[in-house]
Amino acid sequence: MRKFLFFLSLISASFINAEVTVKGLTCENLINPIGIDETSPRFSWKLTSNDRNVMQTAYQIRVVEALHATSKPVWDSGKTLSDESILQAYNGKSLQSGVRYNWQVKVWDAKGTESAWSDAAFFEMGLLNASDWKAKWIDPERDIDSLKQQPAPLLRKDFKISKKITSARLYVTSKGLNEMYINGKRVTENVFTPGWTSYKNQIQYFTYDITSLLKTGNNAIGAILGDGWFRGYLAWANSRNHYGSKLALLAQIVVTFSDGTQQTIGTDESWKATSNSPIRNSDLYMGETYDARLEQRGWAETNFDDSKWNTVETLHATSLPKLVAPKGQPVRRIEHIKAQKIFTTPEGDRVIDFGQNLTGWVRMKVSGAAGTTVTINHAEVLDKKGNFYTANLRAARCEINYTLKGTSEEIFEPHFSFFGFRYIRIKNYPMVETQNLASLLDNFTAVVVHTDMPKTGEFTSSNAMINQLQHNIQWGQKGNFLDVPTDCPQRDERLGWTGDAQAFVRTASYNFNTSGFFNKWLTDVAYDQNKVGSVPFVIPDVLSRGNIETSAGWGDVSVIAPWTMYNVYGDKRVLERQYPSMKAYVEYMRKSAGDSLIWKNGSVFGDWLFFHPRETRHREADGYTDQDYIATAFYAYSTKLLQQSAEVLGKTDDAVFYKDLFNKIRDNFSQEYFTPRGRTASDSQTSYVLALFFGLLPNNLRANAVNNLVNDIKSRGNHLSTGFLGTPYLCHVLSQNGRTDVAYDLLFQETYPSWLYPVKMGATTIWERWDGIKTDSTFQDAGMNSFNHYAYGAIGDWMYRVCAGVEIGKAGYKHILIQPHTTSKMNNAKASFNSDYGEIVSGWEKTANGYKYSIKIPANTTATVKLPASDLNKITESGAALKGYLIKLENNEALIEVGSGEYVFEVN
Ligand code: BGC
Repeated sequence: MRKFLFFLSLISASFINAEVTVKGLTCENLINPIGIDETSPRFSWKLTSNDRNVMQTAYQIRVVEALHATSKPVWDSGKTLSDESILQAYNGKSLQSGVRYNWQVKVWDAKGTESAWSDAAFFEMGLLNASDWKAKWIDPERDIDSLKQQPAPLLRKDFKISKKITSARLYVTSKGLNEMYINGKRVTENVFTPGWTSYKNQIQYFTYDITSLLKTGNNAIGAILGDGWFRGYLAWANSRNHYGSKLALLAQIVVTFSDGTQQTIGTDESWKATSNSPIRNSDLYMGETYDARLEQRGWAETNFDDSKWNTVETLHATSLPKLVAPKGQPVRRIEHIKAQKIFTTPEGDRVIDFGQNLTGWVRMKVSGAAGTTVTINHAEVLDKKGNFYTANLRAARCEINYTLKGTSEEIFEPHFSFFGFRYIRIKNYPMVETQNLASLLDNFTAVVVHTDMPKTGEFTSSNAMINQLQHNIQWGQKGNFLDVPTDCPQRDERLGWTGDAQAFVRTASYNFNTSGFFNKWLTDVAYDQNKVGSVPFVIPDVLSRGNIETSAGWGDVSVIAPWTMYNVYGDKRVLERQYPSMKAYVEYMRKSAGDSLIWKNGSVFGDWLFFHPRETRHREADGYTDQDYIATAFYAYSTKLLQQSAEVLGKTDDAVFYKDLFNKIRDNFSQEYFTPRGRTASDSQTSYVLALFFGLLPNNLRANAVNNLVNDIKSRGNHLSTGFLGTPYLCHVLSQNGRTDVAYDLLFQETYPSWLYPVKMGATTIWERWDGIKTDSTFQDAGMNSFNHYAYGAIGDWMYRVCAGVEIGKAGYKHILIQPHTTSKMNNAKASFNSDYGEIVSGWEKTANGYKYSIKIPANTTATVKLPASDLNKITESGAALKGYLIKLENNEALIEVGSGEYVFEVN
């Protein structure tokens, strides 16, 4: 009723036009977020209309306290003249801890007509002040040797609620991972909370609406803690305890009653804990050992006797990290995949195939005698003979040991582990001998787990192998966007490798909405950046141990990722927030390079994993690019992006300074590394690609450099030789320089090295190496051979941007470039991308006499459609001559200016 009144009160008497409606409201890029700590959150909305050319000219936002919906708004923007409909910042009374706010927006379009108010959306503030936390950090463990794996402790507390509950929240975080229960029920679908951050600097707390889980009367809260990233195995050499040796929990329930009063229940000395837990150990890499016989029934419910449990210790404030609210989406179970096949390998193992290399775990159903232990192992591939292959997992055991309690059907999922796998091996599974094997398949389901980013992009074509490549790119992302961008999900690594993220960030941001994901991770890039400005190899940093080493193309993520976030999502605030970190990195390079402007020894990894059949990283290796060349090229590129960022942010002095610096680096680079005829000192594909893409070649040398690159590709029979750094830009450089034909030759190449070679070999994800499985079906070196590494998937960016042609014209896709590039190698291709303004579509298909282009442009944006045509008469729209468009002809291209709407053009 209240809501209804609120709504009515907002409908003004003025003329309301139904042609434009406002939908898709988000706050800080999240749908109805609860527990945020952005004190001036930003609002976005989408206009929808059946009309063409819809533009917003003004908006009005109203924000009210949800519990006092009829009272005065805490902010009314008034009619604000603006065509901006994304990320408009709150500018009202200060927002209060724990309070929920409803908000609505309406817009005016270019015809002056006014939309109706949108449906109300909400956001709720988290705990904004340290003093809002009444709870104390508690430690459940007694003297333990944390260098060894320990049981996952259980914690609990009973409490009473005496009045009628209006609403209730749980605010919770932990050192280590947590699973929370209220009255025996899981509080959330989120997993791996509180996520992985630079724990010494910040740790996320999560807010849950637990109103429906509590009751007036007796209640109980329970928690299980796991080692996770905090103190579990991380990186190599069996190292543990990266952030500390003791697990701890901080939880606070705030109950609001109908009379407006509140009750707070927090972790404190009164909680009880036990290590007598069925989870004997649980580790991200190693897996889990679970003894169901040790389950304590009802331990997270009331009426449980915890008299044998231990008391807990409270922690002292000194070692406590800053608490922050999540900026992005949590990690969840996203998909379930049925087991497809079960078979016995030549070595006699029972193996199940899920048909897809994925990240997550297996849900198992099992019945059998108490005390039976079933073992599950995980693997990405079978070897040449068809045997279960785990050597590439290195020290990660990835093993489940489940001991049955022997009641009826038991269902098990691990708690604090995840695996990268397509196959599992089951040992000692009780039903194996009694049933026909195939009927067991229903007892095993793969649970796909990753950050719950909204899917935004789709690329399809008439070519099945290219479609499989796109599938593999998306699965590479699903497999490695688990709270932080990891290199791989299977071996003892799974770290936030900065170079991989840098290479893939743009592709990633087509497939899924990564704004929250990178917004969060970039805060840790800044936190873990060394004082001198260098950026560690991995973020969160668990490798450097105080070493300031960085590597060109890796550290640059600190500049490239915020710049990408700004371009894809129009997010200026991220750019502003990251600016000091971006600048510090460029300054680090400037100091390291010194007056020569050539950055010596700045590259540790070079053009990682480039084509080098001689198995060496030395200069004579085929495809090698000089590492100082790479370092200086990235120094120049990041300087240029910093300059552009300074311009966007109005930092004029910096813009001038870094522009000048870029020019100087470029000129020096030119003298150092190019011959007067446009050959680079390394003469490798990557050396041409970086020089051309980063704008380092004088104009008069560009054509020759492009020829040299093309000749190199041709001399290899249309094969690439690039590694992590050259690959993302290779096809772009070709298409920017009129050689899209060669880019397509590379894309369609099926033999090694190429993108389709793994596809041909049956890959369902992107491989770490071009030849993870060699042509003779043997494996590359087990020491480094992941079958789920997204970096080479960076070609996805070119497929969206160039092949289908969805490109950013102005930050956030406020202006769009539609620039499809057809090829005779396939009949059609199409991309859709759900931008923050709405869906963009660009597709082309071959017709009897030419090509047909189908385009969709969202409301409140404009687009320039670039079609290949030397003569306007060759272009028709739905069979008729083009009318009413602003058109320019340039270099055999027609540039057609359009507004929102759907269009079908044909070029004959
Ligand atoms: C990782 C990477 C990373 C590389 C850098 C590897 O172990 O898996 O993908 O970028 O090391 O050397």
